[in-house]
Amino acid sequence: MKLGFIGLGQMGAGMAANLLKAGHQLSVYNRSPGKADALLAQGARLAATPAEASTGEAVVSMLADDEAVEAVVLGEHGVLAGLGKGALHVSCSTISVALSERLAAAHGQAGQHFVAAPVFGRPDAAAAGKLFVIAGGDEGAVAQARPILEALGQRVFVLGAAPKAANLVKLSGNFLIASVIEALGEAIALVEKGGVDVREYLEMLTSTLFSAPVYKTYGGLIAAGKFEPAGFAAPLGAKDIRLTLAAAEALRVPMPVASLLRDRFLTLLANGGERLDWSAIGGLAAKDAGG
Ligand code: NAP
Repeated sequence: MKLGFIGLGQMGAGMAANLLKAGHQLSVYNRSPGKADALLAQGARLAATPAEASTGEAVVSMLADDEAVEAVVLGEHGVLAGLGKGALHVSCSTISVALSERLAAAHGQAGQHFVAAPVFGRPDAAAAGKLFVIAGGDEGAVAQARPILEALGQRVFVLGAAPKAANLVKLSGNFLIASVIEALGEAIALVEKGGVDVREYLEMLTSTLFSAPVYKTYGGLIAAGKFEPAGFAAPLGAKDIRLTLAAAEALRVPMPVASLLRDRFLTLLANGGERLDWSAIGGLAAKDAGG
């Protein structure tokens, strides 16, 4: 397919490379153009604007947050202006339910198709094409997007005909991961201060009742206190909890644990955690315990 890719950050760079490897023709755009160099060497073409990257059959975007997506899609020389009738925008960023709804309406009015396809998996999974993709959109649009989604991920889940359902599911998942990080941080602080070897403790946990990847990955990071370089930066994690709470407020669903996590991220960011991985909230309990 003739595709565009916008947003060559930690996740986007690997995802775009996988579309090239799958044999698609790719035109790429990033706000800071230097990040495109590796992809240009692999055969991608540089687009000067988001609109220029959107002149093919479909464009994929992987941007930081709502503000970035609004600027790139709805702004001057944006995706909406460049995409032809019947062409498709696949939005992989973790954004608000409200913005997803606005994008679906704007693309619909322009005669374009829109699929929200947020992903689970960190930059290593993005580079390896091993993401889990959560897709939302009407049946025809998801079918149009499928070859793209299959090149990006190891498995595609379609959850609902409305794109915003996929965004809500993604936010709920990140809320769960952040809850695990916080709980692991507290448990590790407890046993470590009590003199237990943390590696042996984690080996026991993850080979018994807590064998899910999320406990292995984040338990290891917290035990090692290894929060740099950030695979998923703390401000983006804070953003996801904020967006979870916004969705919860709109639906009138109290989420007291999410409110607590919001404060944990504020503590981290207020104490110089801007450049750390989001799992650094898992280090706060040990600090609170005098560690
Ligand atoms: P990142 O490395 O910070 O990359 C962010 C991208 O957004 C960059 O291309 C950046 O361009 C662009 N951008 C930011 N603000 C912009 C603006 N105002 N206008 C235009 N472009 C802008 O982030 P990431 O880790 O790849 O994450 C991207 C998305 O995936 C986020 O929604 C995140 O929540 C989600 N996600 C991340 C992970 C993870 O583990 N990292 C996992 C799943 C989902 P510049 O290069 O010019 O700054």
